[in-house]
Amino acid sequence: RGKIREFDPEVFEALKCEFKRQNEHLELIASENFTSEAVMEAQGSVLTNKYAEGLPGKRYYGGCECVDIVENLAIERCKKLFGAEHVNVQPHSGSQANQAVYLAMLKPGDTILSMNLSHGGHLSHGSPVNMTGKYYKVVQYGVRKDTETIDFDQVAELAREHKPKLIICGASAYPRIIDFDKFREIADEVGAYLMADVAHIAGLIVTGLHPSPIEACHFVTTTTHKTLRGPRGGVTMCKAEFAKEIDKAVFPGLQGGPLMHVIAAKAVAFKEAMTPEFKEYQQQVVVNAKAMAEELQKEGFRIVSGGTDNHLLLVDLTNKGITGKEAEAALGKANITVNKNTIPFDTRSPFVTSGIRIGTPAVTTRGIKEQDARRIAQLIATVLKNINDDSVIEKVKAEVVEMCGKHPLYPEMASLYQ
Ligand code: PLP
Repeated sequence: RGKIREFDPEVFEALKCEFKRQNEHLELIASENFTSEAVMEAQGSVLTNKYAEGLPGKRYYGGCECVDIVENLAIERCKKLFGAEHVNVQPHSGSQANQAVYLAMLKPGDTILSMNLSHGGHLSHGSPVNMTGKYYKVVQYGVRKDTETIDFDQVAELAREHKPKLIICGASAYPRIIDFDKFREIADEVGAYLMADVAHIAGLIVTGLHPSPIEACHFVTTTTHKTLRGPRGGVTMCKAEFAKEIDKAVFPGLQGGPLMHVIAAKAVAFKEAMTPEFKEYQQQVVVNAKAMAEELQKEGFRIVSGGTDNHLLLVDLTNKGITGKEAEAALGKANITVNKNTIPFDTRSPFVTSGIRIGTPAVTTRGIKEQDARRIAQLIATVLKNINDDSVIEKVKAEVVEMCGKHPLYPEMASLYQ
């Protein structure tokens, strides 16, 4: 410890800056979280030095006896946590976890049916700017205009018309429960494989706060760094019959050597996710999100779909006459970090947007409970009603910094970044 400060002051200053930023801002980006120090310790360990192409017991490099233990632990824990038949813990990211399924099951030109990005889907599910949009024929479903929940009539119609090889469910900005069984019925009717990308809701799933996709889906992918609170990375799960295809797709299909330090951190995170404390944490994440949605509604904001069942909410700013871009910038000045987000049927571009996405996983890790969550929502409302009034924003910022000070992040590391 202290070596970066000594050798590389430029990088050290940036790390110090980020430590301060994370400590003094309220992090409400729905896809972010703060890992435990144990997870970080695994990531910053000697395992970063090791090449281990292949799988435990079947490596292309010598000296893998220790990393084999680590990868087996990660695999076994992940299987137990999700109840999965087969798991590959090597994908470097959520996008690569998804690509493993595509590479294993599809040929270029095959059809994918997935959720529209502007209705909550993810880039890696078929956006024209993503590799999926270039290699596959992509058909997309969305939400209903009246309820803003997934339009299953549309999913079924598009499935019957286009006969996709793969149907993808799972989203980046969908605040409601996803009915995996309904998707499976449709997939079975048209002979499609079903994949759930549960990156956002994995933590809720493993603690029973959201239905599990494991039974209904042939493939389940996730990131490990969002509600699951592990290191940045991905996991691909599948039914046993697809195990070989998935493993081959990850390596040598997509990747070279696995990141063994990250796999160790995944193993630690999976163990953490099995504890009663993790379940309590996830319950609080949901309570906090509901409280924020309610409070914002009281302040006159329209919440997409009328509320939330999970860790995130989408605020429609249309009736306030401001864009998502303006809201993100004004909240940023008050040390409140959110991201602009399109809302269903948005008329603005993804760079401007009519909404913001708010998530509670990170602030809940810091110890924010319902009362503070309500106060944060009020502070957000204050900023959004006064986006051009710097004195109001300054006052909010002072309260935010004070609130953050009551919930210090990584206090044991503070001396490193003095
Ligand atoms: N899948 C979903 C649903 C996501 O929301 C995200 C990231 O936001 C990903 C996949 C991609 O994960 P990564 O950034 O690790 O590639």
